[in-house]
Amino acid sequence: MSYVPEAGIEQATLAEQSLQSVINEIKSVVGPSGWLSADADIAPYLCEQRGLYRGSTGLVVRPTTTQQVSKVMTICSRANVPVIPQGGNTGLCGGAVPPADGLNIVLCLSRMRSIRSVDPGNFTITVDAGCILAEVQQAADQHDRLFPLSLGAEGSCQIGGNLSTNAGGMQVLRYGNMRELTLGLEVVLADGRVLDCLRALRKDNTGYDLKQLFIGAEGTLGVITGATLRLFPKPVSVTTAYVSLPTLQSVISLLSLSRMKTGDQLTAFEFMPRFGVDIAVRNIHDIRDPLPGEADWYVLMELSSSVNDGHLDIMLETLLEDALEAGLIIDAAVASNDSQRAAMWRVREALVEAQKFEGASIKFDVSVPVMSIPEFIPEASQACLEVLPSVRPLAFGHCGDGNVHFNLAAPVDDDGRFGNWTPVFNTVVFDIVEKYRGSISAEHGIGLTKREALGVYKSDIELDVMRAIKAALDPLNTLNPDKVIPIRL
Ligand SMILES: Cc1cc2nc3c(=O)[nH]c(=O)nc-3n(C[C@H](O)[C@H](O)[C@H](O)COP(=O)(O)OP(=O)(O)OC[C@H]3O[C@@H](n4cnc5c(N)ncnc54)[C@H](O)[C@@H]3O)c2cc1C
Repeated sequence: MSYVPEAGIEQATLAEQSLQSVINEIKSVVGPSGWLSADADIAPYLCEQRGLYRGSTGLVVRPTTTQQVSKVMTICSRANVPVIPQGGNTGLCGGAVPPADGLNIVLCLSRMRSIRSVDPGNFTITVDAGCILAEVQQAADQHDRLFPLSLGAEGSCQIGGNLSTNAGGMQVLRYGNMRELTLGLEVVLADGRVLDCLRALRKDNTGYDLKQLFIGAEGTLGVITGATLRLFPKPVSVTTAYVSLPTLQSVISLLSLSRMKTGDQLTAFEFMPRFGVDIAVRNIHDIRDPLPGEADWYVLMELSSSVNDGHLDIMLETLLEDALEAGLIIDAAVASNDSQRAAMWRVREALVEAQKFEGASIKFDVSVPVMSIPEFIPEASQACLEVLPSVRPLAFGHCGDGNVHFNLAAPVDDDGRFGNWTPVFNTVVFDIVEKYRGSISAEHGIGLTKREALGVYKSDIELDVMRAIKAALDPLNTLNPDKVIPIRL
């Protein structure tokens, strides 16, 4: 982002003057309760959860209507002042953090939180983009419907942030990620115009599907202000099993068998290594290992249905018998009540929490085609062990969507400098991901963390197309200017 100085005036001074007049104009648009500028008030908006990035801003603006967002964007684009859209600030790649120079506006939709309408007959809900994800789930539930996106940050992340990062989670296998869950969007463009694609249609073949441009764009192409989302029949029966398996190949074979035998009722299929279960049991006090033993791999699988006639239990039983007979699984525990089900899920959640008790870790949120998982994990683990023999690979994830959380726990005797290995391991792991035609970011997005890696692992043509889209929608580079798109070298 560059400001054009007038002759004889220092660039920074001009930018500050320009910013101050923009701030005054914005304040008059949103009124006294629509902005924050005191240091203590704006502090939470300036850094991300893990404290990896810290920025600065001239103003945090919190509009209440799409019209106010539109006016703010018009003012900022005319004055060439960058705007950083921010939702719940739960993203983990620095995408919502403002640049350090402070010559920008943070635009947060936290006061745009209306459920605009629920249409149970059409199985749709239309919401303001500032709605918290959990609020949308509850609004659907009140109408006996399911909004299936579910993730660890659901109590604080916003629908606008979920859309902008194309969030996934535990149930993508059955319901898809935000791209699949979205029918319509309302977006304020960089120049302030409102793009109204807020339709509740499942079939609409009228040229380019414009809404998809903004999903996963991490606030670089427009500010999402409203969305029409898909709802589903609410599951009334659920059955859960925790199984042990001899090999990673058997994990994939069990996934295939489960999909064939249960139709679309397979809702979750999470895999974990013995090392992951061990660190969960070792570090988190309320964990009970559902299948103590020495198997190499474990799967937590869940079927759900909107019909409660006992067919799920029979289906699961038959599936597990077949899998046992085929030698795919070693043992299985089936939850017979909600507390047993919760205890099984607790192991999966605790695995994530437990990592911090094992010291530092370097984390990769990647995906490869499902059938490549049994080759990818051993190959990436071996390559990392060749670089640092005492590193402890820990791979787990949402197997059904090929999403592998490939993490590296620090050596037991780490001297506090493990993080310095990050660039080396980035290259090692991403090169292998690329070999399998996988993705260097399956869930969390690019933001700042993976911006330069994107420049390495996307083809020149893909980058050209991305830059052309950015230039067409945001020619002045007003929106989240330093994020996602790699700087040209
Ligand atoms: C504990 C935890 C668990 C998580 N689990 C998962 C998971 O299972 N699956 C998964 O996919 N992700 C997961 N995430 C990361 C996930 O991306 C975010 O939690 C969520 O989707 C981001 O929403 P947010 O409102 O916090 O967005 P923010 O972090 O505020 O912003 C994210 C990006 O979106 C942009 N943005 C925000 N709002 C708008 C808007 N209205 N218009 C345009 N751009 C906007 C920002 O500029 C930024 O680039 C997890 C995060 C945490 C902390």
